[in-house]
Amino acid sequence: MDFDTITAISTPLGEGAIAIVRLSGDDAIAIADKMFRGKSLATVETHTIHYGKIVAPDTDEMIEEVMVSVMRAPKTFTREDVVEINCHGGLASVNRLLEMALGYGARLAEPGEFTKRAFLNGRIDLSQAEAVMDLIRAKTDKAMHVAVRQLDGKLSQLITKLRQQLIETVAHVEVNIDYPEYDDVEEMTQQLLRTRIKEVSEEIDKLLAMARQGKILREGIKTAIIGRPNVGKSSLLNALVQENKAIVTDIPGTTRDVIEEYVNVRGVPLRLIDTAGIRETEDIVERIGVERSRQALKEADLILLVLNNNEPLTDEDRQLFEVVKDLETIVLINKTDLSGLLDHEEVSTLAGHHHIVTGSLIEDAGVDQLEEAIAETFFKGSIEADDLSYVSNVRHIQLLKQAQTALSEASQAIDDGMPLDLIQIDVTRSWELLGEIIGDTMQDSLIDQLFSQFCLGK
Ligand code: GDP
Ligand code: ZN
Repeated sequence: MDFDTITAISTPLGEGAIAIVRLSGDDAIAIADKMFRGKSLATVETHTIHYGKIVAPDTDEMIEEVMVSVMRAPKTFTREDVVEINCHGGLASVNRLLEMALGYGARLAEPGEFTKRAFLNGRIDLSQAEAVMDLIRAKTDKAMHVAVRQLDGKLSQLITKLRQQLIETVAHVEVNIDYPEYDDVEEMTQQLLRTRIKEVSEEIDKLLAMARQGKILREGIKTAIIGRPNVGKSSLLNALVQENKAIVTDIPGTTRDVIEEYVNVRGVPLRLIDTAGIRETEDIVERIGVERSRQALKEADLILLVLNNNEPLTDEDRQLFEVVKDLETIVLINKTDLSGLLDHEEVSTLAGHHHIVTGSLIEDAGVDQLEEAIAETFFKGSIEADDLSYVSNVRHIQLLKQAQTALSEASQAIDDGMPLDLIQIDVTRSWELLGEIIGDTMQDSLIDQLFSQFCLGK
């Protein structure tokens, strides 16, 4: 394909010891060569890196010492000639390099345009492109791992296999429609349809089951810490934040004033919601009352309910148990260093199937067990299995659900004794919907919209 040469700063602005200005396109090497004093980049081997200087166009004044990577098409990320100029950062000098590249004829890349080119040049499919985006946003090692696997094309392979099964089925039906005189063939076709639809449908079910865990990995487990005043909510928050240093703060879309805090508990990304409220010893329940907090808490993936070992249960505690009855909850009985006035038996009854952990936050006891319980709750076996790629992209999930619906409509149609060509329409629709996941039946405008979500320079 024929594209102009694009450029962007492809490392986060401002911080970081090294910054990279990336160029991609037919003129990438020529443009870099004009900026560079060192070896002639036009003649160097592909996939080599070269030390040299960047000099100002008119004065030949040295601007930066750099390392320049030259990668010729087609074995590059975009399948075009790619040059990456590594410099020592500093916003001013990186911007200067970018301006020079633009001055020599490159165009500023749109957000996601490098990845879009990789897609348009056939190097990656759409789910892989989205995985790149997720990589950029990955919040924990596990989420990173999932994104990397998706980038590997695992999801694409699976989807392709399912589509293959569906299209073969459709082909079978086609034959049958063409030769309707054989009655027993029709019987067989119906039987085959039923089996195939069930098989594909079960695979989609599995993928959707993964989706919940995928979502958790990606977005963090929305966690609410609740409890009466003074039981130790703030202490718990602080303990979680202090013990888990890998706090992720550079999440695109979150700003400093968003009252959320991310902590990484044994690979489980917790997103502590309404932490500002807790900091002011005024949590959701205290502030808006039990009835409304019930609504608010429904959105949480995990609730940490804190009790005070040093006080008898109150009606407010009992109400809180009522609120969290059907929600994923871990109970922490805090202040075990103080004399026990709490009726642990009643707590046990009220807690039902919820985990109960005891501890003393002031003595740093019980936090390990609490973290253990959290990890256990969210990584029950399957998530750590290495052999599956997870679906955790909202667009993919929607398409999978729609494909699933089309298949159940097909099943229903078979049961209702509908003609084969009608059933075939549903199966074909399911095939198309799955195709949209890997970008096979995607309209251009949607592609543009998807890629515009990327960070600049990727
Ligand atoms: P919150 O109102 O639920 O957020 O409770 P805080 O975390 O602010 O704690 C209230 C008070 O209890 C503070 O004075 C804490 O130092 C104290 N506290 C917290 N955890 C413990 C504990 O395990 N043992 C004792 N003795 N005091 C604690
Ligand atoms: Zn507090």
